[in-house]
Amino acid sequence: MRITGFELYHVAVPFKDLFFIAWIPGYAMTHHVFDVLRVFTDEGIEGFSAATAIDWERKGLGDVLAPFLIDRDPEDLEGTQEALRQLHYMGFRNMWVDAAIYDILAKKAGKPLYEMLGGKPAALPVYISTGENLEASQRVDKMMPLIEQGHNAFKLRTKNLELEDDVKLIEGVRKGVGDDIMIACDANQGWRLSLVKENPVWDLDRAKEFAKACADNGIEWLEEPLHPLDYEGNAALRKEANVKIAGGEINNSWDDVKVMFEHDCFDVYQPDACFSGGVYQTLKIVEECKKRDKIFTPHMWGNGISIFINWNMKLVSGDKRLPVEYVYEAPAFTQEYRDGVVEPVMLDENNLLPPFTEPGIGCRVDMKLLKKYGTCYSRMNQRRLTLKVIRDRGLKRALELKKIMDGAG
Ligand SMILES: [Mg+2]
Repeated sequence: MRITGFELYHVAVPFKDLFFIAWIPGYAMTHHVFDVLRVFTDEGIEGFSAATAIDWERKGLGDVLAPFLIDRDPEDLEGTQEALRQLHYMGFRNMWVDAAIYDILAKKAGKPLYEMLGGKPAALPVYISTGENLEASQRVDKMMPLIEQGHNAFKLRTKNLELEDDVKLIEGVRKGVGDDIMIACDANQGWRLSLVKENPVWDLDRAKEFAKACADNGIEWLEEPLHPLDYEGNAALRKEANVKIAGGEINNSWDDVKVMFEHDCFDVYQPDACFSGGVYQTLKIVEECKKRDKIFTPHMWGNGISIFINWNMKLVSGDKRLPVEYVYEAPAFTQEYRDGVVEPVMLDENNLLPPFTEPGIGCRVDMKLLKKYGTCYSRMNQRRLTLKVIRDRGLKRALELKKIMDGAG
């Protein structure tokens, strides 16, 4: 099988209401923005992947991706890794591309990706992952109807400038919802985006103090309390804290996560296969978690396609020690707006995430929605790539290049 071409789409799903994203303080999101990759093969099988975006930052990606991807054998996973690594040197962060290739391989095998990789179907408990930084009383008001529906696990965002306001938030929420509800806190220090207002920057002292407040309030885990490349800081905090320390959602690759394991930075590893080295490298993290008895539960904040990709990783891990992330922050970030171009991922009547059986990564991309919300900004195949080389370099040089690549030059 060979890859014959691909399309890249920039998708912007307009929210009905503004979404005040906690990790960019002061920033109101009007659209859920992401990019979609659709890969074609000579056997008619198509693969999809998606990446979080903030704007049109990947506009030039198609031109540089084409020579690395077109005519590639999808079975050659090592070769794809090397190609994406080479692409990475040029300033792009594109390991997410490999999920589209895994989608193709699993579709060819006629199995869901997690099954192809040795995982078993399972209905997963979830935690509701909130995205806005609210005061305790407002947060409790939003949690109560969900608790009445049977939800018993939530994640809060602690993004106040002052430590005491973060402590007030967890104390107020704990008091408001009682002791039977699982609560996690995400400090989002891994990727601080200070585009509008000042972003709180935690140091080890603040992280230690907040971790103590977490332990006092029965918080299940504290997520990204320090920058992920502060290996020593994370390790020192984990050693001292009486709350689980979690992280690892936005690393470049296995190379940084390996160092986290060596330093023993976290109790809980949360890679996102669309950020951290793709499916190929996330599988290494799954294995290492098993070896070192660490908890694996992936980052699932994203769009419908990336949610499916990471859901596969959770099912491959078979790790049931913590619930899986289920993003929900009404009124803006609800299933329809979250998932965008696939049928929304819904929970069953027991609030569990039921396993899917569709071959591949598991979702069917709705082409009508992709065309409605997306703009195709790159469409490449061998012919278009050839024409581009001729246009850029002239016919004579293009022919010389072909000769060299065919081994005749
Ligand atoms: Mg997080």
